[in-house]
Amino acid sequence: MIRQSSFLEDTPKLYLVATPIGNLEDITFRAVNILKSVDYIYAEDTRTSGQLLKHYDIKTPMKSFHKHNETSKHKAILEQLLRGNTLALISDAGTPLISDPGEQLVEIVSSNGFSVVPIPGASASISGLIVSGFKPHPYLFYGFLPSKTLQREAVLKNLRWLPYTLVFYESPHRIEAFVESIKSVFDSRRVIIARELTKRFEEILRFDLNESVDLSGLKGEMVVVVEGFEESKVLGKETLIDRIELLIDDGVSEKEAIKQVAHEENVKKNMVYMTYQTYKKQFRNQNQE
Ligand code: SAM
Repeated sequence: MIRQSSFLEDTPKLYLVATPIGNLEDITFRAVNILKSVDYIYAEDTRTSGQLLKHYDIKTPMKSFHKHNETSKHKAILEQLLRGNTLALISDAGTPLISDPGEQLVEIVSSNGFSVVPIPGASASISGLIVSGFKPHPYLFYGFLPSKTLQREAVLKNLRWLPYTLVFYESPHRIEAFVESIKSVFDSRRVIIARELTKRFEEILRFDLNESVDLSGLKGEMVVVVEGFEESKVLGKETLIDRIELLIDDGVSEKEAIKQVAHEENVKKNMVYMTYQTYKKQFRNQNQE
């Protein structure tokens, strides 16, 4: 076991510092002070982060750390810490590691006995989640789905019956294909697209997958939040179970009863199946108590 006491030990540290996702004012006092006080800042793109540093008059030298040089930088970063230097890792925007590089680095730095300290702040995922108005928890942050349709829809199929609000990142040139995929995998669900959060053209689009929406030309950075599965919303759960049981009583097999009810209600068979299995499990548990 590794046990880190972030404030009691005087070992060189690696700070994971959250930076703004657009609006330069969305950074904490602590983050600015840490960035001013460390020996080096490792940044995804030194030009992009240069603007932030200039805005806050942070003179700390920067070194690059991005997904293409990540592995080759691990040794150099450990050497810096061994020399007693304190470091900060930042990404182009938001919280480092969240759909950004750094996860292996944290593992390596902490397993070598150095402290890794998070400096919390903005992340597009959390802003998208709270502005959605959907259940804020439990939620599942997925990040970017695969770009190929078949793979994307395979992942979505694994997520469709989860009673969790789903949070995705998507790029503007794939947003139409992305929405087509969620339409084809999910039934009626509420969705939001939060675009250009904290920036001048911030926009929140709220719609149901039943609606036809025109997303052509939608630009900028975006978070997509999809309402979680709620079996009772699709159809009164009791009604659905009653109807399956009635059919079974009439001698129809369970499989056929589920198929029939799903067909009559025009909902996915898998959803009816899951609802009925959950009910049977609960029923069995109640009888055992
Ligand atoms: N580390 C970042 C964070 O904490 O949110 C995410 C980095 S990821 C490489 C970039 C993606 O985050 C974008 O493609 C977009 O999906 C989302 N994103 C970043 N900034 C955003 C913003 N201002 N508005 C909406 N989405 C944003």
